[in-house]
Amino acid sequence: MLFDTHMHTRFSTDSDMLLEDALVRARQLGIGITITEHMDLAYPGEPAAFTFDTDQYFAAYNSYRSESVLLGIELGMRCDCLADNCRIAQANSFDYIIGSIHVVDNVDIYCSEFYHQRSKQEAYNLYFDAMIACLREYDFIHSLGHIDYISRYAKYQDTEIYYREFADRIDEVLRLAATRNIALEINTRRLDSKERIDIILPIYRRFAELGGTLVTIGSDAHRESEVGRRLNVGMEIAKHCGLTAVRFVNGSPLEIKA
Ligand SMILES: [Zn+2]
Ligand SMILES: [Zn+2]
Repeated sequence: MLFDTHMHTRFSTDSDMLLEDALVRARQLGIGITITEHMDLAYPGEPAAFTFDTDQYFAAYNSYRSESVLLGIELGMRCDCLADNCRIAQANSFDYIIGSIHVVDNVDIYCSEFYHQRSKQEAYNLYFDAMIACLREYDFIHSLGHIDYISRYAKYQDTEIYYREFADRIDEVLRLAATRNIALEINTRRLDSKERIDIILPIYRRFAELGGTLVTIGSDAHRESEVGRRLNVGMEIAKHCGLTAVRFVNGSPLEIKA
């Protein structure tokens, strides 16, 4: 059974999706799902804007938990939130913890402000430096979320991440993930063309070369029509690179077989 390991329902500030609707969609597609609600502590300007009550989350969703419905979280990694994030990870029985970079130097990289008066090289180097600094500290995450997140929102003509342009920093990211046995997520949200797949592929190939073994595949759905999106593309990338696609259950990786 294929597994979509990244999606947001109503406990995420930016999603209204009901778990029940995600379940209907998953059943139609014959896939398993992991819910991964947003927890971005100390959000710039509005500290609680992207947080949720984990007790309410488990109270509402625990009864749905099964082999094919897993409960996780997407933690926004920042070095200054390490202790609080670690506490959240330890205090709750998440199946799966994604560590993601959404905020760099206290600016949400969704905002144009982050790119103002910065070249692509400068902005992307800051992004990867934040990722490296967090990966050194966040040893409790199971997967590194959407390495290409910045490409969604950057304000340059070509926002893609070309491995060769950032090889040193990407290698450091991949080496840290590999040595800590952290999976690298294949976030399928942007993988809607062969061109984009070809651009991102060298990063996953390099991960395998540097000793990485595990990938997770997630749609990052915020509405039910997006649940399960392009999982087959993720499986192809994993296979092509000799990486094992997994979902995490109680923090342990289980191989996904198509
Ligand atoms: Zn994210
Ligand atoms: Zn997400």
